[in-house]
Amino acid sequence: MSEKFNVEEIFAEDVFTLGKMKEYLPKKVFTEVKNVMENGGELSLAAADVVAKAMKDWAEEKGATHYTHWFQPLTGVTAEKHDAFVTHPNAEGKMITEFSGKELIKGEPDASSFPSGGLRATFEARGYTVWDITSPAFIKEDATGAILCIPTSFCSYTGEALDKKTPLLRSMEAVSEQALRIVRLFGNTAATKVTASVGPEQEYFLVDREKYLQRKDLIYAGRTLFGASAPKGQEMDDHYFGVIRERIGAYMKDLNKELWKLGVTAKTQHNEVAPAQHELAPIYETANIAVDHNQLIMETMKKVAVRHGMVCLLHEKPFAGVNGSGKHDNWSLTTDNGVNLLEPGDTPNENIQFLLVLACMMKAVDTHADLLRQSASDVGNDHRLGANEAPPAIISMFLGDQLEDVVKQLIETGEAKNCREGGKLETGVSTLPDLTKDATDRNRTSPFAFTGNKFEFRMVGSADSIASPNTTLNAIVAEAFCEAADILEKADDFDMAVHDLIKEYMTKHQRIVFNGNGYSDEWVAEAERRGLPNIKSMVDAVDTLTTEKAVKLFEKFNIFTRAELEAREEVLYETYAKTINIEALTMIDMATKQIIPAVVKYTKALADTVIAVKEAGADASVQSQLLAETSKYLAEAKAALTKLSEITAEAAAIDCIKTQAYAYKDSVMPAMAALRAPVDALEMIVDKEMWPMPSYGDLIFEV
Ligand code: ADP
Ligand code: MG
Repeated sequence: MSEKFNVEEIFAEDVFTLGKMKEYLPKKVFTEVKNVMENGGELSLAAADVVAKAMKDWAEEKGATHYTHWFQPLTGVTAEKHDAFVTHPNAEGKMITEFSGKELIKGEPDASSFPSGGLRATFEARGYTVWDITSPAFIKEDATGAILCIPTSFCSYTGEALDKKTPLLRSMEAVSEQALRIVRLFGNTAATKVTASVGPEQEYFLVDREKYLQRKDLIYAGRTLFGASAPKGQEMDDHYFGVIRERIGAYMKDLNKELWKLGVTAKTQHNEVAPAQHELAPIYETANIAVDHNQLIMETMKKVAVRHGMVCLLHEKPFAGVNGSGKHDNWSLTTDNGVNLLEPGDTPNENIQFLLVLACMMKAVDTHADLLRQSASDVGNDHRLGANEAPPAIISMFLGDQLEDVVKQLIETGEAKNCREGGKLETGVSTLPDLTKDATDRNRTSPFAFTGNKFEFRMVGSADSIASPNTTLNAIVAEAFCEAADILEKADDFDMAVHDLIKEYMTKHQRIVFNGNGYSDEWVAEAERRGLPNIKSMVDAVDTLTTEKAVKLFEKFNIFTRAELEAREEVLYETYAKTINIEALTMIDMATKQIIPAVVKYTKALADTVIAVKEAGADASVQSQLLAETSKYLAEAKAALTKLSEITAEAAAIDCIKTQAYAYKDSVMPAMAALRAPVDALEMIVDKEMWPMPSYGDLIFEV
C-alpha cells in the first residue's frame, strides 16, 4: 500500500502563513504586518527585524539553513541565490545564526546577467529584490536542504521593473482603484479593495526519462524537432479523462502532496486529450499569489517527475500531430466585501452593475485585443495559436446564448426586458433527477470565454508565466472602468447615464463578441471583415507593446513606463531569436551526428543485401527500390541540412535584434521544416533497430 497522509495536516506546513505569523509574532507586530498586507504601506524596520527573526526561527525548526529572495526575472522562470543564516562566530567560536529585517526586505543581486532589454545599457547593472509582503514566504526542500524562500519584486537601481511581478502588482492596484469607483457608483461604500482572482489550469506531458535522455531535441529545446507520427494519435478520444495509469497516478499523488505542503490548493487532475498529456488545476486565489503558485506548480511538476523516472514537458508543443499544452487563465474581480463583479445573478438583464462591467470588458478586450494577444505569446505558443490547433490567434469574446441575447436587446432597443433561462435538463431516465441547466453552454474554441462568473483566457502557453496575461487584463479593464467612472461620476441623472453608456459601449464593441466556432476558416474571414486583428506570431505581436495606445494605457496607470516597455520588446525579440537558434543548432547536431550516419549504415546494409540477393540468383528489385528511395530522402536531407546551416549562420550574424527575430521566423523556421520532412520520411522506412532515437510511439504511448 502506498503512503497515506492527511491533507488538513500537511496543507501549508512549509508556508509561513498568516496563522504562523500570529503564532510567532508579538501581537503588535502581527497587527502591523497584517495592516500592510491588506492596505499597503511600509513596514517599519523595527517590525521587519522582528518578522525576520520569527521567520528564521520557524524556518530553522523546519531544518532550513539558508534563505533566498525568490524572484521572477524576464527569463520567464524563477531565480534564487541562497544565503546561509551564518554570521561571524563569537569569540568562543560559537555560531549564532541571524536574519535581519534589512535582509528580509531588500536584496542586491547583480542584475547584469538577467535579460533587461535597453534598461541595462542606460542604467546601472545593480538590481534590487524587494520583499512582496502579500505573498507568503515558504520553504523549499530538496537535495540542497531546506531553503526559506521570500517572494520578491526585482527592480533596477532607478526603480524600473526588471521582472514580471512588479508590473503585475502595479496593475492589481490600478484595477482595484478603478473598480472601486464603479462599485461606489452603485452604492457599495463598504468595499475598500477589489481583488483580481486567478485560477490557472496547467497542462503538461510526462515522458520516460531514459527515453528523454536519448532525444537531444527534448533535452535542448524541450520539444521534438524530428519525429514521424505514431500509427495512433488522439483520434479515439480515449485518453481524455481516461483512467489514470498507476505510474502516472503515483506521480500525481506525490505532486499533490508536495504542492499542498507549499500551500498550493491543487484541486483537479485528469488525463488530457493527447496521449501522455495531463492537467492540474488549483483553486483560484489573488492574482499575484496565483502567479507565484503557478511557478511553484511548474517547478514541482518537473522535480517530482524525475523522482518517478520521468520528465515533465511544459513546452507548448512537444509533439507535432497531437495537441499541445496551454494554460487556461480564469480571471475575475471581487470586492473585499464579497461581491464578484462578474456574477450576473439569475437575471443579468436587471443587474445594471454587471451589465456595466460587461460593457467595460467588451470595450477593454476590443480596444486592446492586440495587447491581450501579445500577453499570451511566447515562442512555443506560436505552434498552437492560429497554427496547427486552437485557440485561434484572433481575440474574440464568447458570452453564451443568454448574455449574447441580453446584449442584443440592449443594443437594439436600449433595454433588456427579459433573459433566457436555462430550463430543465431531462435525461429520459426516471431514476435520474431532472436538473436545471446553466443558461450558457460552453464554447471550447473561444480564446476569451465568459464561464458563469469569470472570464477564461485560454490562449496562454503552458510554459509561460501567467504574470503578463494578468497584468494586461488588469490594465485594460482598469482603463475601461476609469473612463466609465469619469463619465458617470459627473452625471446628473445616473440611471440615464449608465443606461446610455452601457448601450454605447456594447454597440461600439459588439464586433468582439463571437459565439461560433473559433476554429473555422469562416471565422478568420469574418474576423477580418470585422476589422479584428489577426496577429499570427509572437514576433508580430511584440511591437503592440509600444503603440501610442499601449504606452498611454500603461503609463496612465503606472504599470510600465515607455522605457520599460521598450526594454521588454527587446527582451522578447532576443528570446525569440535565441530560442530558434538553439532549435536550429540542435537539429543540425542531430542530423549530422545521429540521423545521417544511421541512414548511411542502413543504405550500406541494403546495398549489401541487393548484391547478396542478386548473387544468389534471386530477384532483388524490392531491396533495390528501398535503397533508391532511402538514398533519395538521404540526399534531400543532406541538402536541407546544408541549407539550414547556412541560413542559421546568416541569421545569427544580424545586428538589429528585430530584423534578426524576423529572420529566424521567416527564414530559419522554414529551413527547419524543410529538414524535418525528409528525416521524418526516412524514419518511416529505416529499420527501427537502426534509428538512433526513440520514436513518437515510444515516447507518448510507452510512458
Ligand atoms: P473548468 O470546467 O473550466 O475546468 P472550473 O470551475 O473547474 O472550470 O474552474 C477552473 C479554474 O477556474 C479553477 O482554477 C477554479 O478555481 C477557477 N475559478 C473558479 N471560479 C473562479 C473565479 N470566480 N475567478 C477566478 N477563477 C475561478
Ligand atoms: Mg476550464
